[in-house]
Amino acid sequence: MSYRPSIQNVSIAGSNEKEGLYEFAVKLADGTKCRVFYHRFPEWRLTNINRLQKTPCPVCRKDYICNCMESFTEDFHSQLVEDQWIEKLLAE
Ligand SMILES: [Zn+2]
Repeated sequence: MSYRPSIQNVSIAGSNEKEGLYEFAVKLADGTKCRVFYHRFPEWRLTNINRLQKTPCPVCRKDYICNCMESFTEDFHSQLVEDQWIEKLLAE
């Protein structure tokens, strides 16, 4: 599989700080938009990725629900952590 998501922008779509639950709105370089869910306790853990069905899936080209993005959990997580998206958003 040659596709690799490239995160272009991230914002907080929702959070429950007490429970450590966060929902991030992620935009990829190819225009794909996703909601990425995190649980921060005991450490930041990506629990779910939902692609918004506004644009076709860049992997399977479906414009309805599919699970392709779930296979890129590691890519999303490493970019969100290494590029310090989460850190910067929470510092705002
Ligand atoms: Zn797909």
